[in-house]
Amino acid sequence: MTQTAPGTVPAPVPLERVTHWIDGKAFAGVTERTAPVYDPALGTVRTEVPLASVDEVDQAVASAAAAFASWRNSSLTKRTQVLFAFRELVNQHKQELAELITAEHGKVVSDALGEVTRGLEVVEFACGIPHLLKGGYSEGVSTNVDVYSIRQPVGVCAVISPFNFPVMVPMWFVPIAIAAGNAVVLKPSEKDPSASLLVARLWEQAGLPAGVFNVVHGDKVAVDRLLEHPDVKAVSFVGSTPIARYVYETGTRNGKRVQALGGAKNHMVVLPDADLDLAADAAVNAGFGSAGERCMAISALVVVEPVADDLVARIRERIAGLKIGDGRRSCDMGPLVTREHRDRVASYLDAGVEAGAELVVDGRKVQVDGDESGFWLGPSLLDRVSPEMSVYTDEIFGPVLSVVRVGSYDEALKLVNSNPYGNGTAIFTNDGGAARRYQNEVEVGMVGVNVPIPVPMAYYSFGGWKDSLFGDSHAHGAEGVHFFTRGKVVTSRWLDPSHGGINLGFPENV
Ligand code: NAD
Repeated sequence: MTQTAPGTVPAPVPLERVTHWIDGKAFAGVTERTAPVYDPALGTVRTEVPLASVDEVDQAVASAAAAFASWRNSSLTKRTQVLFAFRELVNQHKQELAELITAEHGKVVSDALGEVTRGLEVVEFACGIPHLLKGGYSEGVSTNVDVYSIRQPVGVCAVISPFNFPVMVPMWFVPIAIAAGNAVVLKPSEKDPSASLLVARLWEQAGLPAGVFNVVHGDKVAVDRLLEHPDVKAVSFVGSTPIARYVYETGTRNGKRVQALGGAKNHMVVLPDADLDLAADAAVNAGFGSAGERCMAISALVVVEPVADDLVARIRERIAGLKIGDGRRSCDMGPLVTREHRDRVASYLDAGVEAGAELVVDGRKVQVDGDESGFWLGPSLLDRVSPEMSVYTDEIFGPVLSVVRVGSYDEALKLVNSNPYGNGTAIFTNDGGAARRYQNEVEVGMVGVNVPIPVPMAYYSFGGWKDSLFGDSHAHGAEGVHFFTRGKVVTSRWLDPSHGGINLGFPENV
């Protein structure tokens, strides 16, 4: 394990060409199509990723389908052993994974380590698969007749993931799918594809048979093929809302079960009785951690007057103390993922000001501890934002925190509930009754009470409401196990053959 000393940059992770991983082997691909992968803190191309053709996707699916035939019949003991070994290997390679994430995503290494740790929690949950797959059994429902339920794997499962958590988001799905006896084809984001290859090698070292876990890199061509391939039975998608809706509609039209998690616009409501220092810390941590590129980031701070002036002052003070720079140095916040994304996010600052908001902190003026060509945008704070402004209506997915001032709890609740997204939200208050009312009334899937980023533990399920999730299964926890299995009920009779006889009537229980 290497540790980064403050202010120094470790040797870069070796620049290898990114390959697919099919049937237990690295596969360079034959397609001519590739995409650049950047190091966002340097602003340079660090490698390139092949974009799979339909044929290449078909090879991965064929490998998964062949592996499924025997993996589904491997014992729970064998599967659990592989899961435990994988858990140990990921733990041992945590730092390496985190450095790969930082090199391509840009988030600071400590944050990337946190991402791997949260992913590991799902692996640990999946280690309990024998218990999670236990069915029900009713003895003697009729004379000599027993009924029992079992859950069986669905087959080849596709996982399509976004750029912002290249290790954790695939781990929301893959360990549970594999533990339940499925085979997987992962299509990672083309913006930060390398970590998925290291994960594939760790699965192999853990003893997973070739073909049970495959990686194909690509863009719309690969996604569309996965959505239409007859051997793909289930699709887990995480990304922006327009693509999530498209994946859900296309996948279900093709007869697949689909869970498609979309974008977010998370509100943090601050009531006047809240501890304002706690609220200011939370707003800064949840607004600017990972440069705001988290689906659970706080983007709209809804402050119930008369505390907005005070809270804005405390947030501004904290922003001034943040260190922005190369994630391999001891910084709090890194760059954005690409130049185009940085420019798009920055454009919202002008749009906000033109629409009448007050730019309290302008992240374009930030001093960075990093290469000047990096995709930098510092934390930005817009006050007096109103609900019709684009800075409020759009998912910005960057380090821009908007303060919306309201007069009452009811006004705050109405604002949150009229938003089309419903991923995460938080309320800061010292009034237990108000918090309880909020948890009951808010139309959002994940709620924090004095907790800014309420990402559920692996044994609960992760997912939003409304335009933040298409489908009816959330990720991991009991819903994840349910998604990756299908139920079967067996009615059996073991009796003396002398009890036979002809009866064409509908079976009745006696
Ligand atoms: P994205 O929608 O651009 O890409 C997600 C995946 O879809 C990638 O693998 C990409 O290759 C693929 N894709 C992109 N365009 C496509 C198209 N036209 N057809 C088919 N496939 C396509 O998202 P992103 O920029 O990588 O990630 C950021 C988004 O993900 C944000 O909107 C964020 O809120 C969301 N997100 C949501 C959650 C959640 O749990 N709800 C978690 C993480 C990220």
